[in-house]
Amino acid sequence: MSRRRMFGIGAAAVAGLSTGCTTENGKSPIAQSNTTTTVGATAAPVSAVRQAPPAVIPAAVAARHSGVAPQTWGMQMPGIISSFTATGKQMALTFDACGGPNNNDIDETLLNLLISQQFPATLFLNKRWIDANPSRAAELAANPLFELANHGMAHRPLSVTGRSAYKIAGTGSPQEAVDEVWANHERLTALLGKPPRFFRAGTAHYDDVAVSIVNDLGETPVGFSINADYGATAKAGTVANSMNAAQPGAISLAHMHRPKSATAAGMTAALPTLCSAGFTFVHL
Ligand SMILES: [Zn+2]
Repeated sequence: MSRRRMFGIGAAAVAGLSTGCTTENGKSPIAQSNTTTTVGATAAPVSAVRQAPPAVIPAAVAARHSGVAPQTWGMQMPGIISSFTATGKQMALTFDACGGPNNNDIDETLLNLLISQQFPATLFLNKRWIDANPSRAAELAANPLFELANHGMAHRPLSVTGRSAYKIAGTGSPQEAVDEVWANHERLTALLGKPPRFFRAGTAHYDDVAVSIVNDLGETPVGFSINADYGATAKAGTVANSMNAAQPGAISLAHMHRPKSATAAGMTAALPTLCSAGFTFVHL
């Protein structure tokens, strides 16, 4: 969590920009909500092995939420991070790879922009996209510029009642919600050698019970404050305008699996401008 990463040595020179595009030694602005295990009163020897956090039992998480009626539905609610407390002009770039039929492509222009300019980003990968692009996913996992996060198994809105968004049926029970998160949690854990920290549901919609489930599974639901490309349908100018309106602490959402979209063109226009304006891109 507190591991520091440094990006972009020389990137500013490459970009012809003075400052602003590198992380400040990669300091993550969001405090991890994982509880730490308190060592009990029974005095442990100094040399005792540090106690591991309690293991997550997915079936127990599902059972714990059985029969609980959701009260809220949407893309923003308590328990979902939609922005963060910035130090200076920080913002976080996030890109989704939604996966599935016709959605397993790679926007190489966009990724090349991020890599060539050393712009850190959090990439939310759907399990189907990973399964369709295993070597590319491994490359991304090995690149410290990127943090890989969980975009679900089947890209379903996260519901315990089957509620839908954009005509996509949501998960229909606590167990289905757990499965939607956990199948890709395990896939990413194998890929990364450690569990993913963040989750974004397909369509970014949740009910409040599902938000609680994600947190209990050890991941933090992430929303957004800038909808940059409207599902990779926006024109380049719209993408750029949305990004350029960023406030410190913003989390932008765009997509990395639609190479024919205008997302890369919009980002190519906007990101250097944001750098020039003093913004620093950070991981969540
Ligand atoms: Zn998606």
